[in-house]
Amino acid sequence: MPLARPIVFGNWKMHGLRADALALAGDLARRSARLSATLGVFPPATVLAEVARRVADTAILVGGQDCHDEPEGPYTGCISAPMLKDAGARAVILGHSERRHGFGESDELVCRKARAAIDAGLLVVLCIGETEEEWLAGRRFEVLARQLDGSLPANAGADSLVIAYEPVWAIGTGRIPELEDIRETHAWLRHQLSHRLADGAGTGLLYGGSVKAANAAEIMAQPEVDGVLVGGASLDAEEFWRIYTAGGGA
Ligand code: PEP
Repeated sequence: MPLARPIVFGNWKMHGLRADALALAGDLARRSARLSATLGVFPPATVLAEVARRVADTAILVGGQDCHDEPEGPYTGCISAPMLKDAGARAVILGHSERRHGFGESDELVCRKARAAIDAGLLVVLCIGETEEEWLAGRRFEVLARQLDGSLPANAGADSLVIAYEPVWAIGTGRIPELEDIRETHAWLRHQLSHRLADGAGTGLLYGGSVKAANAAEIMAQPEVDGVLVGGASLDAEEFWRIYTAGGGA
């Protein structure tokens, strides 16, 4: 079943010892007895199971931030998609720029991880986006096409995939593209997905990069923006909730 719009996901990254993570999850759970749209959090793996239990009475979706491309094996320190699922995850973020650029993950590896995650029954939040250098050189669409070519797994469909367009230069910087640019990129991405996937027209398409309560409404009002992936601002329950309601969620 397609996710209700807006889709608002919070990537906690490497933030959250138990006490803080559970307090944040508890605060969101108190606001979320019933949800008209889709709200999700992606905590560190160490607290994922406890966060999932803390929000179990709500419709809040819990996901992991990465997974291995094999279901199990001799891979010290890694976590597989079935392990995330077993811990209570319903989704996983893959191809985040902090992994593509910080850990050298290739499109091909991201694709294998995405295939493994979908096989395990997880929703994949597949991140793509150009660097500032590529943006300034006018290479945005070339880069996004390459990332889609290389990292979209063949087993993906609207029920198992959400795409997050995250310009690398907008992540954690307080800078966002002009609304017109977001509109243009998302229209282009929708067209691409419609050609690449059987149900591309229904695939969730998010914007990510310096989303805050103050800019969330105008971003989510753009055509083809189904929601947002939020980093820093998702660590504050009140701010994150205001982003969710700014998009029409209640
Ligand atoms: C992110 O890391 O996915 C992100 C969007 O971060 P921020 O909102 O902090 O820019």
